[in-house]
Amino acid sequence: MSVKTIQTIPFNRPCIAQNELKYLTEALNGGSTSGDGPFTHRASRLLEGATGANRALLTTSCTHALEMAALLLDLRPGDEVIMPSFTFVSTANAFALRGAVPVFVDCRPDTLNLDERLVEAAVTERTKAIVVVHYAGVACEMDAIGEVARRHGLTVIEDNAHGLGGSYKGRPLGSFGRMATQSFHATKNIQCGEGGALILNDPELVVRAEVIREKGTNRSQFFRGQVDKYRWVDIGSSYLPSDLLAAQLTAQLESFDAIQARRHAVWNAYHGGLADWAAANEVSQPVVPDECAHPAHLYYLLLPDLANRQALIAHLAERGVQATFHYQSLHAAPAGVRYGRPGPAGCPVTEQMADRLVRLPLFADLSESDTARVLEAVRAYSCRVPQST
Ligand SMILES: *Cc1c(COP(=O)(O)O)cnc(C)c1O
Repeated sequence: MSVKTIQTIPFNRPCIAQNELKYLTEALNGGSTSGDGPFTHRASRLLEGATGANRALLTTSCTHALEMAALLLDLRPGDEVIMPSFTFVSTANAFALRGAVPVFVDCRPDTLNLDERLVEAAVTERTKAIVVVHYAGVACEMDAIGEVARRHGLTVIEDNAHGLGGSYKGRPLGSFGRMATQSFHATKNIQCGEGGALILNDPELVVRAEVIREKGTNRSQFFRGQVDKYRWVDIGSSYLPSDLLAAQLTAQLESFDAIQARRHAVWNAYHGGLADWAAANEVSQPVVPDECAHPAHLYYLLLPDLANRQALIAHLAERGVQATFHYQSLHAAPAGVRYGRPGPAGCPVTEQMADRLVRLPLFADLSESDTARVLEAVRAYSCRVPQST
């Protein structure tokens, strides 16, 4: 007797883009595998096209791009940076590294983005910047946030790790902040294993950003023939990725439309296929406001409570579907308590959403039949009525 084993559908599997192996071979054969080679330039131009940026600088990660942004702001110990609690650790860590204090503001219950109505109350005399994260690539309310920033003379930075290809009122995400950061980690829509970019929308930042990325030297200007020797001119670090990673990234960016079409197909199948089930089980589906176009970065569901969320993850695992939770509140994390503080309204919505959220498998190579398997597995779960206390 044989038991047919079903293969587990992973939460994520990075796709290999059409020219990826070809470009990697070219980069290896070309012999210039260090940073700022021909593929670095190609990938940077593609990114500038996608975001409308003045300049895009490839980095070794989004974390490092955020660290560069913090260096470019010349933050002093005690300066404050407003950001959501519902985000990845790097959003806060990059600023804490400079001695700045992350001030955590709650998220909106619909989009899970920084609640723009709570931002102004968190501004103090020490506030220098507002960092927004477009959760799942659905834009924050950039008009309202931009207005608060203007009133108080604050810099806006977009942690746009989810948002490449998304837009707000027709304008690409990554073009709203003075700077924006991208991630090309293996879990993102466009990936090279580990990688990122700093998007500069203010041309005045470009030269210094190049210096910071090149260990504090003016090596980039030297290679362009603008200075006759390169020297140590500022603080910085090594944030420049290998041209091999840039080769992979170039192929991924050239296949952007094809990758996105597949991701949207999966996202739309989930959204339509789970509407009735969600309504019957008091589950919330993602909300995308009319002025936002999202890049299908992730598909999540909000269960009624933690017990149901955990039960659904276990139920899906038994059926060979790997689903997973997401961010845990930064304001309540050990380092969040040590280095940051919540804004005056606290973060009760973030705490609730962190417990209720589950993400379904979503990647370009997820087949139609596997998408159907995920749908079937989710619909086979019925929410338990919460225990009354
Ligand atoms: C993935 C992610 C990061 C970190 O990206 P790395 O490239 O892995 O450093 C930062 N912020 C957000 C919102 C992310 O999703």
